[in-house]
Amino acid sequence: MIKPNLHLETLAIHAGQQPDPTTGAVMPPIVLSTTFAQDGPGNHKGFEYTRSDNPNRRSLEACIAALEGGEHGLAFSSGCAAIATVMQLLQPGDHVVACDDVYGGTRRLFDRVYAPLGLSITWADLQSPAALREHMRKNTRLVWLETPTNPMLKLLDIRALSQICAETRTMLAVDNTFATPMLQRPLDLGATLVVHSMTKYLNGHSDVLGGVVVTSDSDLAQRLRFFQNAVGAVPSPFDCFMVLRGLKTLPVRMSQHCASARQIAQWLSEQSAIERVIYPGLSSHPQHQLATRQMRDFGGIISFELKGGGQAADHLLKSVRIFTCAESLGGVESLIELPSVMTHASVPLQARQDLGITEGLVRISVGLENSEDLRDDLASGLIS
Ligand SMILES: *Cc1c(COP(=O)(O)O)cnc(C)c1O
Repeated sequence: MIKPNLHLETLAIHAGQQPDPTTGAVMPPIVLSTTFAQDGPGNHKGFEYTRSDNPNRRSLEACIAALEGGEHGLAFSSGCAAIATVMQLLQPGDHVVACDDVYGGTRRLFDRVYAPLGLSITWADLQSPAALREHMRKNTRLVWLETPTNPMLKLLDIRALSQICAETRTMLAVDNTFATPMLQRPLDLGATLVVHSMTKYLNGHSDVLGGVVVTSDSDLAQRLRFFQNAVGAVPSPFDCFMVLRGLKTLPVRMSQHCASARQIAQWLSEQSAIERVIYPGLSSHPQHQLATRQMRDFGGIISFELKGGGQAADHLLKSVRIFTCAESLGGVESLIELPSVMTHASVPLQARQDLGITEGLVRISVGLENSEDLRDDLASGLIS
């Protein structure tokens, strides 16, 4: 078994997997069988039924857990299924504090699925960690963070917030989809749970939907394992194989995403058609200091506001030829989108305005194409 203290580049390729003992296959074969023969009742080789456990899923879970520096990984059929499973840990009457600038699907799940079941949710701006204290109640069981947030790329101080949670033994969950363990490891900073949409950078090729939860708390892991099997929102063996394959290049992909995004963010900030560029790696980002402290690099997502508002944004999105106008992020291909009309259309207008999601706000996911080609593509669609 591979040692957990190796570097992330090595773990990404080897953790959770070894050549198949029966054939020597270097890549773990895809085990599609839904059921596993038992020598006698209850006497099996570790697998009984694929909803409960499957060799490909076990490899994937072990690999991501190693990358996040956690003891236990649990994979799901989507990021939303992973988030919903964390929410199963709560009871009616429990209170959740969640940062106000989360993935739209997380907001929908909390407000429209879990609040009606008896949970109360407070949406809060937690950029100043002390603000968390004001929102904590006696029955607060979970604090939910995303950092950097989507699409405003606000940063939250995981270590400072985790210290406040520790005082009252409140669980802290961090959605680490944007940063990935290559740039930030929330468990090292005091989080109880890390959640990912594997659909984004972890798989990295925009061809698998998946989610994962990682924790080092064995008690929580056991309860999550129960829900994973009881609810059954598990990924297929093929999807697990695909994400495991994607993970092998996560370290090199992330360093290129970051390098290109840094160049493009700098260039965008020099364009007269642009009002402001939001990227944690720019010194103009209000939390650049925190980003430097908390993250190893600044990621591949950039948001920017066009001076010409919605009309200029519409023109840009229709002009680009390499960037594809589409939702989602984190794939090898560059994507461009308009949060107010696309990913964040379901956020109530007032909340959207409070967050700064205007009609001229554009979000890009910088892919792995040549960065000069990407820059020229954007230049072709900028109008003042
Ligand atoms: C996409 C996304 C999710 C949801 O994941 P799915 O795989 O689409 O269910 C959750 N959080 C963040 C930050 C995301 O970007």
